[in-house]
Parts: sequence; C-alpha cells; structure tokens
Amino acid sequence: MLKIDEIITDELTSLNDRERVKHKKREVGIFYPSESMQCQRKIYIGVVQPGRKTQKMPLGLFHMAKLAEESVIKCVQNKPGICVQEQVRLVKEISPDVTIHGYIDFTTLDDDGNTTGVYEIKSVGNLSYVGKATEAKLHHRSQLQCYLQTLGCNKGGIIYIERGDICKVKQFDDTLDPDLWGRIKTHFSELSQYMKDREIPPPMPIEEWECGYCEFKDECKEERKELGLKLNSLSKK
Ligand code: SF4
Repeated sequence: MLKIDEIITDELTSLNDRERVKHKKREVGIFYPSESMQCQRKIYIGVVQPGRKTQKMPLGLFHMAKLAEESVIKCVQNKPGICVQEQVRLVKEISPDVTIHGYIDFTTLDDDGNTTGVYEIKSVGNLSYVGKATEAKLHHRSQLQCYLQTLGCNKGGIIYIERGDICKVKQFDDTLDPDLWGRIKTHFSELSQYMKDREIPPPMPIEEWECGYCEFKDECKEERKELGLKLNSLSKK
C-alpha cells in the first residue's frame, strides 16, 4: 500500500522548500509589499539570515490557505463578463533606495486591458479575526496600498475568507491613501538604510500581534528589557 501520509508530507515539504528558494537571497533595498508596516527588525533578520522564519505557519495550513485563495479566484473567473488576471507580477522602484517586488493575487481588467480593481485574499481560521472592524488590518491595507499606488489604480479590495468554509467572506474596499503611502515609503527607506549600514533595527513592532508570531521574540525580550522599552507587545507568549 502507498503511504499517503508520507507522500503528503514529502510533497508539501518540497513545495515549501521551493518557496523558500524563491526568497533566499535579496539585495539591499528590495522589499515585499507584505512586509510594509511590520517590525523592521523582524524583516531585517529575515533578510540577513535567510532561512530563518519570521512567522510560524505549519506546512499543511500554508497549503490550505493557497487552495482557498485559488478557489476564490476560480469563482470570480467563472462569472461572465469579468476579466481576471491572476498572480500579477510587480517590480517597482518607489524611491532611489527602495524597490518593491511582489505578486498581486488578482486584478480585474476592462476591455482595453486597463486595471479596474486590485484584490488581495487573506485566508483566516475564523472570520472573527476581523470582528466588527470597519477596515482591514493595517498591514493588509499597507500591502494593498503598495499595489494600488504602483499600478495607479484607485479601487482595491481585501477579501478575508475562512479556510474551512470559503462561503464565509468579508471584504473591505480601499482606495489610494497618500498618508499611508508616505508612512510605507518612510518605513522601507529607514529599513534600507539599516541594511546598508548593517545595523540591526531596534525591537519595535508596529502592532502588538507581531511578537507573538515571531521567531525572535525571546532574543528581543531581553534586549527590550535592557533598552527599558515597553514590554506590552511581548507579554502575550
Ligand atoms: S519579537 Fe517583536 S520586536 Fe522582536 S523582531 Fe519579532 S516582531 Fe520585532
């Protein structure tokens, strides 16, 4: 008999390895939109020590998230009259010291091929993650903002879906936001400078949740104590 459990583990491990190779080496000044408005130190360590994870996502969960996202795109593609472009590659220099690289989940196009909407899908364990919020999470809004700004498109949506039931969906629409874009550019420029100087940024998450999911939380905890910084964000272990 085939050992299906071993086959699944092998297949997902090799998929994961291929993803890691893609992210293996990066030049200074290249960032992913998903890194915008997140702890600079976390990104820095991930770049200078490729292979060290900054977020722990089990292999199977990662794969289920991918499948859920593909299902959403298929549903939109099947709707007559909507032209969908998926996995849109993005490479754009946003300042002399910062270039962003990424893939947009999908965009919609008009008959002339112009982008009419930009969409980012986020799969979550439970939609209560967004609760009664009136806008998407800051780091997700920032990611979408990178796409909107670089494509010059004023219509975007962040779609949260439950991994276990993709009929459970919540969408937040967004538009170009010059203030947020300014913060994102400053955030990446500062990080680029830290990388040029080979200086590790201080352990300062932008939002509290980051430390709880970060592999470096123990290292940072001591340093934050030494620096006398607030430990709020590290208290949820
Ligand atoms: S533990 Fe927190 S402060 Fe330290 S690198 Fe991770 S997110 Fe940043």
